[in-house]
Amino acid sequence: MSNMLKGALSHLDDAAKHIEVPSEVLDSLRFPKEVMTVRLTIRMDNGSRRSFEAWRCRYDDTRGPTKGGIRFHPGANLEEVITLAFWMTFKCAVVGLPYGGAKGAIKVDTHELSKQELERLSRAYVQAFARVIGPDRDIPAPDMYTNAMIMGWMADEYSSLKGQPSPAVITGKPIALGGSLGREDATARGGFYILNHLEKELGLDKTQRRAVIQGYGNAGSQIARLLHDAGWKILAVSDSKGAVCDMRGLDPAKLSATKKAHGTVRRYADDKHKDVSLMTDDEMFALDCDLLVPAAMEDQIHDGNVDKITASVILELANGPVTAAADKILNKKRITVLPDILANAGGVSVSYYEWVQNRQGISWTAEEVQARLKPLMEIESMAVWRVAQTKKIPMRTAAYVHALGRLSDAIRAHGTQAYFCP
Ligand code: NAD
Repeated sequence: MSNMLKGALSHLDDAAKHIEVPSEVLDSLRFPKEVMTVRLTIRMDNGSRRSFEAWRCRYDDTRGPTKGGIRFHPGANLEEVITLAFWMTFKCAVVGLPYGGAKGAIKVDTHELSKQELERLSRAYVQAFARVIGPDRDIPAPDMYTNAMIMGWMADEYSSLKGQPSPAVITGKPIALGGSLGREDATARGGFYILNHLEKELGLDKTQRRAVIQGYGNAGSQIARLLHDAGWKILAVSDSKGAVCDMRGLDPAKLSATKKAHGTVRRYADDKHKDVSLMTDDEMFALDCDLLVPAAMEDQIHDGNVDKITASVILELANGPVTAAADKILNKKRITVLPDILANAGGVSVSYYEWVQNRQGISWTAEEVQARLKPLMEIESMAVWRVAQTKKIPMRTAAYVHALGRLSDAIRAHGTQAYFCP
């Protein structure tokens, strides 16, 4: 078993120590419900045929149809897909969405494909998994290296196979094809609502409000904008090419323009201002700041850099950015980690709103979407905070306890040994 899957299951075991849950509930959450591996074969532009490994995992559907993205990545593998589907199960439960968790992937480097080949591969995925996915069964969404256009192709392929438009089969679609307004910044906005709502509890109202953000893609650039507009100073941000820092504060609009024009935020330093400096991610993590937002990828905060972190709060917009070993050290250092399954749940919440709108044939304004998202994130984050305080446990364990409570209620509602053989 991979360290990633072991780490995920250890959160379940940790949570189970703090909530009374029948062992049969835990047993049923230790294994995925349905896993499918296929070989996708497509015609390449040069006339040859090429095959790709692909997976879909529906981890648990006790609370509703399963939900989870599709990743196109050369490093994708089955255990990663299962782990991500496990996280989705708990993420949907922690914010109370009527969904179970799923995930899918194709092992592919999209840079090696033409646009036509990418479309063929995306459509081939849906042909292979058409009997697994469906608006009432399993609803995919974008993940790494998949985007709105790919979701549009996939929804179109599914609709063709079913002989009727079925936009609710997939979320994260282009707005013109049934996507939801407010989806683009939903992940960052959800995290931002949590920070604001728990401001006093986290002690952020008394700090200087200095933030450091790793990853300047969708989630990272949106949280930079929201924090900056709320008066935070963005000290440093990074992308895969490294970090840029200005202790006077960076301008997110200029950072986004730089990233768009040059493909990296590091070119922000081009104006050669003496206060702007380039650094590594590890140097950036060590900056004196109040909030650290990992918004790039897994395992970025590890036992090699965790000791240098000074932030009092970490908002995990990325999935799994802190290794299990680093997590223990952060707890010892009394740094509050707002865990991924809660902190980035704004994304799947607005995906759920997209599905609801598609099924009802209506569309909400961005303001209507935000008016639903804000109380959801506030209520659920405060509930997790209270579990953490009452049980004196870290926010991550508290989030798993909160989610496990909901999953357990659903599994128990079918009857357990205690009901049948009291
Ligand atoms: P993205 O591809 O838009 O952006 C990722 C950014 O991270 C890019 O700027 C990339 O250059 C940077 N990056 C990659 N490796 C890096 C490294 N080693 N150091 C610094 N920067 C690095 O992706 P995204 O959609 O913003 O997602 C980011 C994370 O948030 C992922 O973990 C994703 O699973 C998670 N997430 C995103 C959403 C969403 O709605 N976008 C929802 C839930 C979770």
